[in-house]
Amino acid sequence: MKPVTVPFFISHQGCPHTCAFCDQRTISGAVGILPTKEEILTKIAGWRSTAGLRPVEVAFFGGSFTALPREIQAELLAPLQPLLADGEIAAVRLSTRPDYIDDKRVEWLKKSGVRSIELGVQSLDDAVLKASGRGHTAAQSLAAMHCIKQHGLSVGAQLMPGLPCDTPLSSLASLEGIIAAGADFIRIYPTLVIRGTELAKRHAVGDYLPLDLEQGVSLCKLLLHHAMQAGLPVIRIGLQADDGLNADTVLAGCWHPSLGQIVSSRLYFDLVSRFVSQGEPVTIFCHPARLSDVVGQKKCNLRQLAERGVLARVIPEVSLEKEELVIKKEAQSFKYNLLTDLHYSIDEV
Ligand code: SF4
Repeated sequence: MKPVTVPFFISHQGCPHTCAFCDQRTISGAVGILPTKEEILTKIAGWRSTAGLRPVEVAFFGGSFTALPREIQAELLAPLQPLLADGEIAAVRLSTRPDYIDDKRVEWLKKSGVRSIELGVQSLDDAVLKASGRGHTAAQSLAAMHCIKQHGLSVGAQLMPGLPCDTPLSSLASLEGIIAAGADFIRIYPTLVIRGTELAKRHAVGDYLPLDLEQGVSLCKLLLHHAMQAGLPVIRIGLQADDGLNADTVLAGCWHPSLGQIVSSRLYFDLVSRFVSQGEPVTIFCHPARLSDVVGQKKCNLRQLAERGVLARVIPEVSLEKEELVIKKEAQSFKYNLLTDLHYSIDEV
C-alpha cells in the first residue's frame, strides 16, 4: 500500500554553499522556520487521522538535513522516536547534499528511523558541477550513494538537466551513472533561472541560456524513457508550483506546472505516431492508469494525430501492462510496448 508522506520543508537553513541556481540568499529569514516538536506532532496526528490503513512516513525535504548541526537534526528526529516505536509512523525520509554523507552520519540516521535518503546529485559531470558552484564532485555523489546502500537504506537522486556546461549527452551520462550506482528512485528537475540567483545574473548578460520548455520536454522524455527501460522509478519531473515558483520568480527555463504529465504523454504520442499512418482511423487500447498519458494534456495527442490525418479513439483495457498499447486498425490489432518498441537517439534532442 502506498504510504502517506507527511512533509516538513526545512528550507535552506543558512546553507553556506553558493549553487548558481539557488535563491537561498534571497530568502532571508530562512533560519528559524524549523518546525517545533509540537508542530511536528500536531501535523503528523492530523495526517494520520485521514490516512486510513495506509502506512504513514515522515519526510524532511527542501534542504540539506545532514548539513544541519547534529543537535538540530536530533531535535527534529526526537519527537518521531515514540511514534516509530509504536508503529504509528513507518519510516522517515530526508534529502541532503552528497558531501554531507558518511558512515557515521548514515548509521546514526538509520538508528533514528531514517529509511530513505535523497541526494542532490544534479550531475555526474565535474565540469557541470563546478560551473554550477555546487562545491562537491561526482565522485562524492557516487561515494554517498554507495555508503547509503551499504547501510541498507534506500537512496534517491535528483538530476538537473540544463545546468551550465551541461549537454544532453552529459545529462544522459549522469543518469547512466546514477543507474549504475544502484539508485532506487530519481527526480528530474530541469534547471530554472530563478530571480535573485547567480544564474539570473549570468542569464541577464547572456552568459547562460537554460533549456526552454520544448528542449526540456525533449530531453526529459529521453531521460524518462531511459530510466524506465532500466527499471529506475522517476518519481517527479519538474519543480512544483507551490515551491514559491510563479511567473514572477521564474525568469526563464523549462517550467510548467504539469511538466511530468507533458513528458510522459509525449512518450505515448511518439509510440503511437510511429505505428499509424495518415488517413487510417485507429482505436487505441491502454492500461486505465495511462489513459491521460495516451490522450495527452487537454487531448493534445489526439489533436496532433488528427492534424496528421489520424482519427484516434482511446479505450482503457485492464488486461494491458502500463507500458503496453494495442492499436486496432480496421480488422487487425497490433500490440506495442513503450520499453521495447520505442527508441530514441540522443541526436533527436
Ligand atoms: S541548492 Fe546549494 S546553495 Fe541552495 S540550499 Fe542546496 S546546497 Fe545550499
